[in-house]
Amino acid sequence: MEAAIEVNRKNRKIPVIPEMADRCYTCGTCGGGCPATGLVPGWDARKAIRAIVFGMEQEVVDSKWPWVCTLCGRCQYQCPMGIQLMRTFRACRTARERDLVPGPIHKGTMMNLERGNNLGIPKDDFLFLLADLGVEMENDEEQPTPGFYVPVDKEGANIITTINSKEPFGEPDDMKFWWRIFYAAKEDWTVSSVNLEGVNWGLFSGDDPRMKEQVGRVIENARRLKCKTILYPE
Ligand code: SF4
Ligand code: SF4
Repeated sequence: MEAAIEVNRKNRKIPVIPEMADRCYTCGTCGGGCPATGLVPGWDARKAIRAIVFGMEQEVVDSKWPWVCTLCGRCQYQCPMGIQLMRTFRACRTARERDLVPGPIHKGTMMNLERGNNLGIPKDDFLFLLADLGVEMENDEEQPTPGFYVPVDKEGANIITTINSKEPFGEPDDMKFWWRIFYAAKEDWTVSSVNLEGVNWGLFSGDDPRMKEQVGRVIENARRLKCKTILYPE
């Protein structure tokens, strides 16, 4: 058994922590509390981890399992043997070829790095929308906020907040919830006109280099504008 496991550890795409195979005693606790159990016929957390340990990692990578797993971490928290299931399943996402990543998250990641947000909203459109919504909110008859405007690129603000591009793209009024809190609290805040995205799809697609690139851009915005605090509502 030991020799077989040693062979399995070589040339792996998915990192397996030492003694993982010996530690997992197939109790099923991970699958029992998992919100994704039952979503993909033939797979659950226990089966997936056992398949990886015994060298069937490509089968797991090619399956839907790593993509229905929400990476919530519940299995990892509950595992009596300390096996790093969430980390392992995210590594399965990383191992998927980029053009086979399901859904829009890889395309959105690339769009974000090219244009500063996942949905490719042009800067001028974004700024026009913020100005328009600011006027709308200031003159809201039910909840007026006299003097309100969206402070874009305000140097030295206490808080810089990121934006979920889905909101300016399709649900712009959702941004007003934050703005009303800032207004009521008399907060000194700002948003950046560039690289505004707060949803890091590189995190979800398992793309570490691009995930780090986006995080770096958020930090760069805070440094450029000399803001003390980054608010990452996502
Ligand atoms: S909870 Fe841990 S020990 Fe139990 S089956 Fe899952 S991975 Fe194995
Ligand atoms: S991290 Fe994935 S496998 Fe673990 S409990 Fe959450 S959804 Fe299930």
